[in-house]
This record gives sequence, C-alpha cells and structure tokens, in this order.
Amino acid sequence: MSAGLGAPLAVTHRCPRCHAVLTWPASAQGAITCEACHAAFPLIDGIPSFELSGHDRVRAFFSEVASRSLGSNIAYIPEPESPAFKRQAHVYAAAVARVLGRWVPYGTLVLDVGCGHGMLREFATSHYRMAGIDFVFRMLPSARAQGYAVYHGEATALPFADNQFGAALCTEILNQYEDPAAEVLLGELSRICVPNGLVILSTMNRASALRLLVRFARRLSGQAPMDVPQVSRTCRSVVAIAERHGLLLSEAAWLLSPTRALTFSQSCSTVVAPLATNYFVCLRKRSDAS
Ligand SMILES: [Zn+2]
Repeated sequence: MSAGLGAPLAVTHRCPRCHAVLTWPASAQGAITCEACHAAFPLIDGIPSFELSGHDRVRAFFSEVASRSLGSNIAYIPEPESPAFKRQAHVYAAAVARVLGRWVPYGTLVLDVGCGHGMLREFATSHYRMAGIDFVFRMLPSARAQGYAVYHGEATALPFADNQFGAALCTEILNQYEDPAAEVLLGELSRICVPNGLVILSTMNRASALRLLVRFARRLSGQAPMDVPQVSRTCRSVVAIAERHGLLLSEAAWLLSPTRALTFSQSCSTVVAPLATNYFVCLRKRSDAS
C-alpha cells in the first residue's frame, strides 16, 4: 500500500506537533486529526501534509526552483540548465545509488529525507521499500509515480514514531541547515531508525581544496552570498554531531568531483579528503540508543 494513495505506510505515525500517535482516517479524503492536540493535517491529492512552519527563505527558494524544474532528476537546477550541470547531477545520482547499494541491504525500508523528485529513480524502488518526505509539495507526485510512499513535511519534525525505518537517506540537505538546526536534523534521522539501523548522509566537504578556492574567490570579488545557506562541514564535524545522537561512523565515501571516482575510508582521516567536493557517511545507530 502506498501512503501516496491515502493509505498509510506500515509504520507508526506520530503527530509532528505534540508527538502523540496518529490514527489514519478511514477515507483517503479529508484530514488526519491528532486526537491529543487536535491539529489537522490535510491529505492533498492523497498526499499527507505535515507542514508545520512558515515560509522561510530556503523553502521559498526551493519551491521556486521546483516550479521550473519539473521532470528533472533533482530540485536544484540553476537556469539555464547547462550540459555540465546535468552531467554532474547524473554523476551525483550514480554515486548515491552506489553507496546505498554498498551500505544498505536490499529490501530495507528506507526513508529518503528531502526526496525531491526521487533522484534515484528505479534503482531505489526496485531494490528498497522507499518512503520520501520533502517540504516542496510539487515535487512529490513525481516521486510517488516512481513508487515512493510520499509525505509532505519537515526534515526536522518527521511524522513517524521512534524506531520505524531500517535506514534514512539524506543527501545534500544538511548543508541547508545552520547550527543548531543541524543537531535537530541528525536527532530526527537517528530517532526514526531502528537500533542498528543506518543513516546515510551526504554533504558539502569543508575540507575540499576546490571549495576553499571558490570561497576565497568569492570573498576577493566581493560577491553576494548565495540565495540559501550553503553550510559546508568537515567529515569530522558531522560525525561529532552524529555521535551526540547515538550514530557511529561505519564508513565514509569521497566523491572526487568532477570525476566519477568514489573512494572509501574507515575514518574521516584520509589523504583524498581535500580532493572531494562532497562526501557520504554511513552512520550506524547504536543498539542501545533509544
Ligand atoms: Zn498532536
């Protein structure tokens, strides 16, 4: 059954506002009402909407980008859509598929947090049971058409009870969050995973020599800041946040962009770190973490 059709995914849902368990309505129409706090969450075209917060600049930016990139693989397509950028998006999607296949056993129930249009396409839905959540509603029908159970909502207030998913996937989302929101995000990713479950996270590498050059050039030229926060972090700093939420580094993967090469390391310390624009970490939830 698909949550996108109004029937819930076989997990326990919780109210993102008061954290009480939610009961799904008998009808695919109408709203899911929290019996504890009486918040009503509408089903829009059969997609449950758990949006809580107002419209900040990140949300406004991605909503606007999504409005001109329907049908694209990813949300963040600058105009004009250059062949070089398309190639990079393809390389990136291939890297995500590779690390997912390496780290997460097939058949696992995976929540893609910030799923967008469903970048992984049939790779994801043919190997995993996929659910996705994004705050940009207009991208969700595309992910649903690929077989994702989709939810409209917040990465920092997930509408699921604790210990529900075998894995959480969160690609290039952390970089939109400044501290302390990053702590909340990691806490949520850990919370919804079962003990020993996996959080697969990718983000922009602060230690990248290329990113260092770009930051330096922007500063020299006096360029205005980006439209949205772009917070790059070192692998070590991400792992430090993760550890505070019961997540331990299992392996890291380094994307040696603009090549397609992906190299793996057991720790954040590796000689290739300055060559990687982005990296992935596979974090395992401690078995004693609640
Ligand atoms: Zn409630």
